[in-house]
Amino acid sequence: HKKHAREEFIGSIDQGTTSTRFLIFNHEGEPVASHQIEFKQIYPHPGWHEHDPIEIVESVVNCIEGAVKVFKRRGHALNTIKAVGITNQRETTVVWDKTTGQPLYNAIVWTDTRTAAMIRELKKRDGSDKLQDICGLPLSTYPSVGKLLWMMENVPEVKKCYEAGNLAFGTVDAWLVYKLNGGPENNVFVSDPTNASRSMFMNLETFEYDDTLLNFFQLDKNKLALPKIIRSSDKESYGKLASTSLKGTKITGCLGDQSAALVGQKGFSPGNAKNTYGTGCFLLYNVGEKPVISKHGLLATVAYHFEGKPVYALEGSIAVAGSAVKFLINNLGFVPSSDKISDLASTVEDNGGCVFVTAFSGLFAPYWIDDSRGTILGITQYTQKGHIARATLEATCYQTKAILDAMEKDSGKALQELAVDGGMSNSDLTMQTQSDLIGIPVERPAMRETTALGAAIAAGLAVGVWNDLEELKGINREGSTTFLPEMPKEKSKEMFERWEKAVKQTAGFV
Ligand code: ADP
Repeated sequence: HKKHAREEFIGSIDQGTTSTRFLIFNHEGEPVASHQIEFKQIYPHPGWHEHDPIEIVESVVNCIEGAVKVFKRRGHALNTIKAVGITNQRETTVVWDKTTGQPLYNAIVWTDTRTAAMIRELKKRDGSDKLQDICGLPLSTYPSVGKLLWMMENVPEVKKCYEAGNLAFGTVDAWLVYKLNGGPENNVFVSDPTNASRSMFMNLETFEYDDTLLNFFQLDKNKLALPKIIRSSDKESYGKLASTSLKGTKITGCLGDQSAALVGQKGFSPGNAKNTYGTGCFLLYNVGEKPVISKHGLLATVAYHFEGKPVYALEGSIAVAGSAVKFLINNLGFVPSSDKISDLASTVEDNGGCVFVTAFSGLFAPYWIDDSRGTILGITQYTQKGHIARATLEATCYQTKAILDAMEKDSGKALQELAVDGGMSNSDLTMQTQSDLIGIPVERPAMRETTALGAAIAAGLAVGVWNDLEELKGINREGSTTFLPEMPKEKSKEMFERWEKAVKQTAGFV
């Protein structure tokens, strides 16, 4: 018995690692129109991963047009779309010439490990052990900074542009906001703290670029243009769409994808946590209004900054989750599409002794082993494709278990329930395995576009489509599925111990 839906909508750009989407949400948080486009993954060398920044912008524009067409066909008027929010893959780094708005190299994607040797050297520099206290992140190939330094060192045009004082750095949110506003003509050059904090040169307390960090990386802020950091929800500063059918519509919200998922799951209270199984897998745990610097391999990050004080999260980042499923499909030809992988894994009863450490991009949380590489252990003549498929799905579940253990040590509290979303959460087998391994309920909403919903929430709050977080708690509640632990504790413990043993054997194989 829903109230009659208000004729007010919010558009949401979800620029992910493998695809771009545009969704239009109503006041109840239901998507009424959407369009999705996969774009090119560029792997020039082992460990390298790039995107074409122009193609990314085009995919956004085409998704907007695709969704708008559906929206109009369903009888809605475009002027009922009150604002647009953006959520995006984080850390992925774009550099451009601020005088022309032209990118100077492909975007280097967050998974890229070309900087592993450089990071090893940086770790030897004086003060490297102090960085995490300021920015919340350990030195690794993951944050933007190494990718930026690599381009400055290895791409002559980037170096030249920097020396001339014209180089602009941006994460994908800043790049999109800049381009969607029309580029150098209007020069809207901003980023929100959930994105800016992933550069490794933002101070986690002040939300400003920090001199200690910039000096450590020998970055000259007089030569490098950095986006101004503003709130995740802001009525004016993100500008407006300069073209497309939605020309003139304001952009009023911006959140990195994992923060957006936490918001979309309505993880507004300290102690709430969500895990998003996309290309990678990311667990965010709301810690309230003060950052918690991890002692156990997690990241301190910004959950969101709306009205009032910012809210922080502890984060467990897993580099490879759904991308391992893609690997089984694209590289090994196991099944034709992702939705078939659970069926293959279900042809066998268990992993048959196989453990697959899917460390294609090194291992992130809580291990942080940059030179770890994918390793399958325990293969015998008995091993079938089904066992490998199962081991692949299990890999993310084990890492999630390791992250929850670390989180419990950092926060002193054990999680009671885990909210999940992302492409791989569609697999019932994976979600059941997850619950079995962590021993708590796993809660999956019916509407799983929570990342896009989070960006819509950030944008909608700024223009009064929703008034406060309280009002949002009721949306997207119906029809969720709960997975309860079923496996005997002894068995899950034994499985996890085998995993930990396998992890130890994957390092140093580059
Ligand atoms: P991103 O936002 O990182 O691009 P998504 O949340 O769209 O990612 O999830 C896409 C990933 O989820 C892909 O890697 C895909 O292989 C995986 N995936 C999608 N559906 C399933 C499924 N039914 N079972 C297992 N993996 C799946």
